[in-house]
Amino acid sequence: LARNPGEREFHQAVTEVFESLGPVLERNPQYVDAAVLERLCEPERQIIFRVPWVDDAGHVRINRGFRVEFNSALGPYKGGLRFHPSVYLGIVKFLGFEQVFKNSLTGMPIGGGKGGSDFDPRGRSAGEVMRFCQSFMTELYRHIGEYTDVPAGDIGVGGREIGWLFGQYKRITNRYESGVITGKGVTWGGSLVRTEATGYGTVLFAQRMLATRGLSFDGMRVAVSGSGNVAIHAIEKAQALGGHVVACSDSLGYVVDEAGIDLEVLRQVREVERLPVAEYAKRRGGAHYVPAARVWQVDAQVALPCATQNELDETDAKRLVESGLLALAEGANMPLTPEAVALLQSAGVLYAPGKAANAGGVATSALEMQQNASRDAWSFEHTEERLASIMARIHDNCAETAEEYGDPGNYVLGANITGFTKVADAMLALGVV
Ligand code: NDP
Repeated sequence: LARNPGEREFHQAVTEVFESLGPVLERNPQYVDAAVLERLCEPERQIIFRVPWVDDAGHVRINRGFRVEFNSALGPYKGGLRFHPSVYLGIVKFLGFEQVFKNSLTGMPIGGGKGGSDFDPRGRSAGEVMRFCQSFMTELYRHIGEYTDVPAGDIGVGGREIGWLFGQYKRITNRYESGVITGKGVTWGGSLVRTEATGYGTVLFAQRMLATRGLSFDGMRVAVSGSGNVAIHAIEKAQALGGHVVACSDSLGYVVDEAGIDLEVLRQVREVERLPVAEYAKRRGGAHYVPAARVWQVDAQVALPCATQNELDETDAKRLVESGLLALAEGANMPLTPEAVALLQSAGVLYAPGKAANAGGVATSALEMQQNASRDAWSFEHTEERLASIMARIHDNCAETAEEYGDPGNYVLGANITGFTKVADAMLALGVV
């Protein structure tokens, strides 16, 4: 803690993982002898840089850019870029740290990293966002590459921004290096299913978890937070499996639609017109909007937090349990506070941590890298099948590890130990580096 003062989210993420590792360290003293834990929480490299750009009024603006290259024992650093005013080193490090274990869980050859900027895209014109992306990449390009570090999207960075980032990389380097970034458009090196993968994968994980108690999405009342990339695709898949999704949100408030969220209207409002979710309620008769409140006021049997970190606290968890919550799967990274997690677990609610449940996004990014390396493009069906089998494997590995360590159904323990063991073994094999 003294070494990384003020990095609250990073401390939270490290504590959450290390609290699970006692039993594995007892069985494997070689990890302690080789200082694996100490090495794991010190990033291999942290880059902080100035991002100057010119707004539409001709004023020069300065933002701060980050790339934290956390661990490359399993492969090139891999993880998204987040553009949001809350971004600072502590957020990027928490995300990078989580990414190391998540990427290990996918079973694919990818290390962990994360980056972003405190740039706020909200209210900025397309021209401003493009100039920002170009300036960001003008520094970042020297640190990334197909075999080095492969960024992708996250909050505030979707397909449009990936295009502008890749365009600038290509221009500076004069190389069409498709494997340098993922989340690309399908006509220029992207993979089908990548856009859908995180939301779909979260629901597929939840489906398998529900099945352990003989339950399914069919007829379940579902609440989702957020209305961005992960939330929209989680809603789509939950509905496809028969779930009744009644609510979603953004940073300003939430909407309730007892008839079931109309995905077409939601996408028009959020993806096409880029308007707040309040607009959804104006266009859908019967729906209503609640400003400045969290979506967890809504009764739900399945909750899918898909917005941001620490968006569901102990009070929210208590209310959800009282309303009959059966399962919660994290589409976002660390959306629950530690107190909320403890409460759900002691209430016997099925709980899937993000590093396992939302790993489908990065896994499909790795599939995009495979397609780029072989200059191939797979069909939607084939890629979705790969995603489904990866999510099933992650679920089963976590469940089996939890059982092996004497705490069946504890997906936190299962995910942390499974993710850790693979990275730790690779670190031992590679020596003290
Ligand atoms: P988007 O930018 O597409 O959407 C983010 C959504 O969350 C928006 O609805 C946004 O509302 C809301 N939100 C953002 N910040 C806050 C906040 N401080 N309080 C309340 N709501 C907020 O991002 P993604 O859907 O890509 O990412 C969502 C989460 O999923 C993040 O935690 C991300 O790290 C995680 N994730 C994403 C992956 C991906 O493939 N994209 C992969 C794995 C995890 P508003 O528009 O009002 O800001």
